Amino acid sequence: MFVSPLSNSLAAADIASTLHPNTNARLHEKNGPVIIERGDGIRVWDTNGKDYIEGLAGLWSVAVGFSEKRLADVAYQQMLKLPYYHTFASKAHEPSIRLAEKLIEMTPAGLDRVFFTNSGSEANDTIVKLVWYYNNARGLPKKKKFLARNKGYHGITVASGSLTGLPVNHKDFDLPAIPVRHLTCPHHYRFGLPGESEAEFAARLVAEAEAVFLEEGPDTIAAFIGEPLMAAGGVMPPPEGYWQGIEALCRKYDILLVSDEVICGFGRLGTPFGCQKYGFKPDIMTVSKQIVSSYMPLAALLFSDEIYQVVADNTNKLNSFGHGFTASGHPVATAVALENLAIMEERDLMGNAARLEATFQSGLRRLGAHPLVGEARGAGLIGALELVADKATKRPFDPIGRVGAIATEEGHAAGLIFRAIGDQLALCPPLIVNEADITEILARM
Ligand code: PLP
Repeated sequence: MFVSPLSNSLAAADIASTLHPNTNARLHEKNGPVIIERGDGIRVWDTNGKDYIEGLAGLWSVAVGFSEKRLADVAYQQMLKLPYYHTFASKAHEPSIRLAEKLIEMTPAGLDRVFFTNSGSEANDTIVKLVWYYNNARGLPKKKKFLARNKGYHGITVASGSLTGLPVNHKDFDLPAIPVRHLTCPHHYRFGLPGESEAEFAARLVAEAEAVFLEEGPDTIAAFIGEPLMAAGGVMPPPEGYWQGIEALCRKYDILLVSDEVICGFGRLGTPFGCQKYGFKPDIMTVSKQIVSSYMPLAALLFSDEIYQVVADNTNKLNSFGHGFTASGHPVATAVALENLAIMEERDLMGNAARLEATFQSGLRRLGAHPLVGEARGAGLIGALELVADKATKRPFDPIGRVGAIATEEGHAAGLIFRAIGDQLALCPPLIVNEADITEILARM
């Protein structure tokens, strides 16, 4: 195969000049980068001309695939018309207003206001600050703690990284740095007790949450945050009844319920939003990724009118809402998001995820019969295979991550990109996939 000299010098420049996110820097220096050069549909090509099916949609996000020209055209037109404007101090522009309206229309009733950020982490950071501000304004200054779950992922900034429940994101970063308690991960395969049914497991976790509420004192707990289906920690659907139990507790103790839909939102699970799949109603929601197919950096939080009214009164008292980003609601990002959502509607991509769920999930479950696969799991168009050294005892490989790293390389050789989370191999293909694509992805897997 032809290996361009450019790619070699690019690789050397990359090794010499960057620190990569979520990467072992020393291994990277040794092995070098996979430099992706272009995309088409569900495929991407590297600088050696090798093509891969992007089985993770980039980072769980490229719903419309890697070559949607309409998004490029809209970005270009918006750049010509108004490349940048901000939304501080009552300034506004049409794309961000239209997108806010659209999000309120699309999301479940009761999410009435939108605040834009550039990333999911910033959105969750903003939620922490908004909730603190809200409770201070309500005269409840003690009500500040967050509850989250082990293995949950909510981002990597100081506050959102604290909500995240993954050791690799905490260790040596001195996180958590805000008051947060992490509850048991609701993953039955790993954390269910011997002989415990899913329903019993869910009931035990809800009882555990209530015990923590009471131990901490509900007057000190501000919010419970969770992904409807825990994605980046290993694609773990919740046990049946779990969310209903958590929602009832939040209502009982006046605790806000935050649904972090950065991955689950916009059809990934076969319903428009993940909270609809599992039947709960959040007070606050985080969205990003598929909102704009990650063609531009964009995220948002939506929250109830009740929160808005309290916050708005306080801004009047303080003469400002002292929070916001230079690029909050960026006109190019919001214009591209509107076009992306229009394309998703025209092509019924959320419906596509629902229609292909059975094909994808049953194919994945068939791979679960492999002697190295402990569990095959997922919902909608997201799933994972958990590799184990011993299927009967669920004993993981030692060290965890070694087999996942080998699998990643094997996947590349087979022309498939997935994400190894330790030894869990996650798939989350673009929502434009068809039956044949799914068959091909699973065959390569
Ligand atoms: N929340 C969830 C559920 C996520 O999966 C992610 C990223 O994967 C984030 C928040 C953080 O988003 P970002 O990487 O845009 O900061």
